[in-house]
Amino acid sequence: MNYCLQGHDRDNGVQEMLISLLPDEPHDRVPELPRGAEGCRSIAWEEAGKILSRAWIRMGEKHAEAQAESLVPTPADGEEYKRILTYTVKTAVYRALLPLLEHKPVWGSLTGVKPAKPARLAIREGMSREGLDAWLRDHYDVSESRRRLCIRAAEYAMEAEDRLLPRETQLYLGIPFCPAKCSYCSFVSNDMARWGHMIEPYTQALLREVEAAGELARTQNIPLGSVYMGGGTPTTLNEDQLLRVLSAVNRGFDLSHCREFTVEAGRPETITGEKLDIMAACGVSRISINPQTMNDAVLRGVGRNHTAADIERCYRMAREKGRFFINMDLIAGLPGDDDAGLIESVRRVAALEPDNITIHCLARKRGARLYFGPTGQLSAETLNACYDHLEKLGYEPYYLYRQKYMAGGLENVGFCKPGTASHYNICMMEELSDVIALGSGGVSKLCWENGRRIHRVANPKYPKEYIERIDLIAEEKRRLPDERQV
Ligand code: SF4
Repeated sequence: MNYCLQGHDRDNGVQEMLISLLPDEPHDRVPELPRGAEGCRSIAWEEAGKILSRAWIRMGEKHAEAQAESLVPTPADGEEYKRILTYTVKTAVYRALLPLLEHKPVWGSLTGVKPAKPARLAIREGMSREGLDAWLRDHYDVSESRRRLCIRAAEYAMEAEDRLLPRETQLYLGIPFCPAKCSYCSFVSNDMARWGHMIEPYTQALLREVEAAGELARTQNIPLGSVYMGGGTPTTLNEDQLLRVLSAVNRGFDLSHCREFTVEAGRPETITGEKLDIMAACGVSRISINPQTMNDAVLRGVGRNHTAADIERCYRMAREKGRFFINMDLIAGLPGDDDAGLIESVRRVAALEPDNITIHCLARKRGARLYFGPTGQLSAETLNACYDHLEKLGYEPYYLYRQKYMAGGLENVGFCKPGTASHYNICMMEELSDVIALGSGGVSKLCWENGRRIHRVANPKYPKEYIERIDLIAEEKRRLPDERQV
């Protein structure tokens, strides 16, 4: 939808709101909209101590308009003024768009990828759960089900935050290779058929960075709270490579405070009994086996060359091999899937009784083959039915995040059996602690002031560049600057 602004400069606010409510179409700012043209016109002005905003929206034959207002803050300039102006402009756009939508959005006018983070900060500043619930309802029109999700995730985050040791840091290792690229994926995941020859040099480079980061952690007495090996698909490493990397982590770091050691095993065709034995012997305590869907035709359609039966076989083998917590990822809205398919996938996965189940909603991402293609059916009602099913089986929602262009403006939610919530996922998502990230595409983070302030240090995005620059990267890792002290 084209949109134009008048009397304000809150471009991002208007665009965010349009993306959140109409994720399946592009939104471009234009200097002005001719009379009767499709699009959104947003204006703002000040009057009698108030910021007022009005939005006019035309979609096909339908059109609507709405207004919002807020008090001008004192002082009437600076960051707080901008925040309130943005809120007012977004609220007017939301109210105008609402009657033109087929379904009421479950997140109301709340945008942003980490809804539990402001909720946690509000509770930390003294807001009661009831006050927070009312604030989400009255300020953002968030549905009852999502308010509950948000508050529950904030509570899990506070529990994790209270457990943190001084200077506790999480360690991430990225393996950017996959057996083949899934159509919906925008990660830098390199197809093994084409890039398999790079796995060994990449492993060697990663070993050097593990050693350097270990030196940093030891010399600065940084305790590791968790280790997470993600990707890509880390189990594309062969047995020998996997053993070398996991051994290097054990050698290089003091893991005596480590609560959790995850390897994303991801795709079943890359998991062998020997790899599971290696993981168990190296202290891995949590793995992910990700079906995405239990519908074979949908799996084929998105380029995953395994079946639901392969997932079940692999899951049983992992249960026999080690005492891992097991997470399983599902994606709602994959092309060719529908409401009944999602419910069936959730039931089949839950029947296996994994410790964690994560339900993602498909997001269109630049860089994914699916960006322009059709997606599957997905409704908030079906998703709610899946959440209810899991909660009846004893799973609790413990972390959540949203993404731009997410189907239906919905969310990704991690569920866990009591006592099995992933510490790494919570710390990462809520920005509770520092993260040292190793490997190409890794972004180390220094977080302070309850995650309000963050300094990021990025590794090169692509494996080739990472391998070529490993001398410099390892050297920099040894003396990762602490911006908090600058
Ligand atoms: S397995 Fe995961 S990382 Fe690899 S291509 Fe598929 S979605 Fe992307």
